[in-house]
Amino acid sequence: MIEKHYVLVGSGVAAVHAAKAIRDHDEQAVISIFGAEDALPYNRIKLSKGLFSDLHSEKVLIKQEKWYQKNKIEVHSSRTITTIDPEGKTVATADGQIIAYHKLLLCTGASNRKLSMDGATLRNVANIRDRNDADRIKASLLNGNRICVIGGGVQGIETAWSFVEAGYQVIIVEAASRLMIRQLDQQASTLLAEKIIGFGVNVQLGQGVKRILGTDCVQGVELEDGTFLPCENVVYSIGIVPNTVLAHQAGIQVEMGIVVNENMQTSHADVYAAGDASEFQGIVEGLWGGAIEQGRIAGLNMAGKSVPYQRAVPITLFNAFEMPLFSIGLVDERQCDISLTRTDREPNTSIFIKDGVIAGVISFEGVAASLPYKTAIEQKLKLDGIDPAHNSMEEMMTEMMKRSTI
Ligand SMILES: Cc1cc2nc3c(=O)[nH]c(=O)nc-3n(C[C@H](O)[C@H](O)[C@H](O)COP(=O)(O)OP(=O)(O)OC[C@H]3O[C@@H](n4cnc5c(N)ncnc54)[C@H](O)[C@@H]3O)c2cc1C
Repeated sequence: MIEKHYVLVGSGVAAVHAAKAIRDHDEQAVISIFGAEDALPYNRIKLSKGLFSDLHSEKVLIKQEKWYQKNKIEVHSSRTITTIDPEGKTVATADGQIIAYHKLLLCTGASNRKLSMDGATLRNVANIRDRNDADRIKASLLNGNRICVIGGGVQGIETAWSFVEAGYQVIIVEAASRLMIRQLDQQASTLLAEKIIGFGVNVQLGQGVKRILGTDCVQGVELEDGTFLPCENVVYSIGIVPNTVLAHQAGIQVEMGIVVNENMQTSHADVYAAGDASEFQGIVEGLWGGAIEQGRIAGLNMAGKSVPYQRAVPITLFNAFEMPLFSIGLVDERQCDISLTRTDREPNTSIFIKDGVIAGVISFEGVAASLPYKTAIEQKLKLDGIDPAHNSMEEMMTEMMKRSTI
């Protein structure tokens, strides 16, 4: 009989970092990852950023096969877990195998929010969550196709850039009044939109797609104001829905995601959750960095360490349409006391101040420049003695860098 068997359901980045944390603190236990996909855990972000690269290459894997072997971590690919029994401490696979665990981690990720409108089920209406989705989209494209990307968030824009680079004509439709509304203020968003339009993309803001038109295949989209935009493909990216069915059916507390405490423990003591599937303090993070850290913290706690999860300052590193930018922390002008923009020279940078502390930054500097800002925000760097009314942005930034301890 196996004394300790850690079972991790879902083979994404959260699982890899949980398995690593467990192995670092428990050399003997059996660690098994069960994943529905037919691959070792891979870098999901590449599906949009590198859509037309070889997504089946080993370079896309989070860890190479030999890493799992060396660490004695068993990855069971193409093995979907269909039920869990928290009382009996077992999980069941789709092919009827019952597996006992002593600690269970649910890191089942999320699914893309589905479009619900006329035409949403037409051929060539697609979204990207896994490698099969990406393969299908690429196979469906013909030379000269026009592609409508619904959703002007990070993922939508990065996908649009992949299409533009591959030579397709692209339309971006965003129902909100600006692109990347969660990461950019009006000014930065306008700069980005101008750049995207400069690449020949038709950017439609402030109204959504009302319906997709076509008989079998897509012929175009109709916007809310009745405008018809011809296209042959629709790719949408309109948010995520955590995969919570297993937990819900097992009577584990679920709200938006699987509810966890600061130890990533669910309402059932021996069942943990991490990554896109989980909800901590009312928030489903849905971010790569958050999934890594939540997986690590879950693993540590499962292995008997008591380490609380602390949500990091959100950071978005973006590089598409030849416009590298980063957005860190609170960048909503309405929630800040003051926002300042250095426009005297390129690249444009804005800082956001709340309660005398630097709370957020948006910058079109390369991502390499993001670290000092991130540190300043994490350290809640006080700005006393720096007067935004009299000090130049350059002076303020120099002073901020001096004060932060990096
Ligand atoms: C195209 C794309 C681009 C993205 N870009 C960014 C970005 O630029 N920055 C960023 O921060 N984040 C980005 N994300 C989000 C990021 O990829 C996720 O936050 C991260 O992958 C979450 O990791 P996870 O391990 O929680 O879940 P996932 O990576 O979703 O992995 C979960 C795995 O569990 C499997 N699974 C589900 N149910 C079962 C079951 N019952 N049995 C077995 N296996 C199961 C799924 O098939 C999946 O393989 C992007 C996501 C996508 C899809």
